[in-house]
Amino acid sequence: MNLSEIHYPRSVQECLTLIEKEKQLRIIAGATTFGIEQHTRYLSFEPAIACIHYIPELSSLQKTERMISIGAACTLASLERIYPFDRTHARDLLRSIGTSAVREIATIGGHIMYPKRFLSLWALLASLDTEVEFRSLSKTTIKNIWYLSDQNGLPNLERNMLLTRVRVPLQSLDHLFIRRVGAGIFPEGDGGYLVSTASINRRSVANFKLVIAGERAFRDYEAEQRIASSPFPISNKTIQSATRLYGESLRKGGHWNTKVLLPLIGQALQDLQRTSV
Ligand SMILES: Cc1cc2nc3c(=O)[nH]c(=O)nc-3n(C[C@H](O)[C@H](O)[C@H](O)COP(=O)(O)OP(=O)(O)OC[C@H]3O[C@@H](n4cnc5c(N)ncnc54)[C@H](O)[C@@H]3O)c2cc1C
Repeated sequence: MNLSEIHYPRSVQECLTLIEKEKQLRIIAGATTFGIEQHTRYLSFEPAIACIHYIPELSSLQKTERMISIGAACTLASLERIYPFDRTHARDLLRSIGTSAVREIATIGGHIMYPKRFLSLWALLASLDTEVEFRSLSKTTIKNIWYLSDQNGLPNLERNMLLTRVRVPLQSLDHLFIRRVGAGIFPEGDGGYLVSTASINRRSVANFKLVIAGERAFRDYEAEQRIASSPFPISNKTIQSATRLYGESLRKGGHWNTKVLLPLIGQALQDLQRTSV
């Protein structure tokens, strides 16, 4: 077993200085994935570890008129009463993660930065256009969470930067559809979530998103646009043409079980059609 030096930075600035100085540094938040990434019985950790638990700025929640801004070290348990987890389906999804003991220590930042696959909340956060803020000593980057997946839909995480905040735009969530697919989610497996969200604005659909995330992440902008530009309630014809588009792009990707996913997409669109506003 290698010896690692463990640091406990007390501010974001102190942590960024460490990241800059230590070339091989591992950030640890709740540490619930720490053991999972060990592949042999001989434990091996980076020479330096930064535990971000004692940085108050990373555990703060802020709310503005436009968004909820969540510090990356906020625990999953602390999110239960805030948007979007104040909605029953979203809260059930949150509560399906591990056990209450796990959720008391696992953080939203660690959940998003898990390198092997997309974990349970990813599809929901992506469907809500969540932004993630990363910082290093020299720059701050804010991007849509969707850009943490590469062109093949695989995780493409920022390296040598600290995820500082997760910002979820507030919107009227008139339609929220969440379905689990496959089996295992953590630490790995073929499971994932299909999530679709929409707001209904003066008898038309606005902000429609449908995201599938597990081993890979998927969405189809053209199909989303077809729905988003439709009058509400959406017609059966629109549902059929959007489902056809989804079928084509899932098959084109070649990684997806179209026979399982297409009926679920159909259910999500019918659920949207039946939404009462
Ligand atoms: C028993 C058990 C059951 C579980 N079941 C589920 C489940 O059903 N569904 C599910 O989705 N998940 C499940 N999980 C996984 C859980 O969601 C994650 O372990 C947890 O969210 C990770 O958070 P953490 O704070 O412990 O991260 P850590 O383990 O501390 O870190 C995870 C990764 O993120 C990096 N990291 C952490 N914070 C930052 C940051 N601020 N900036 C940059 N990088 C960072 C770390 O370097 C590491 O690579 C389960 C976990 C356990 C232990």
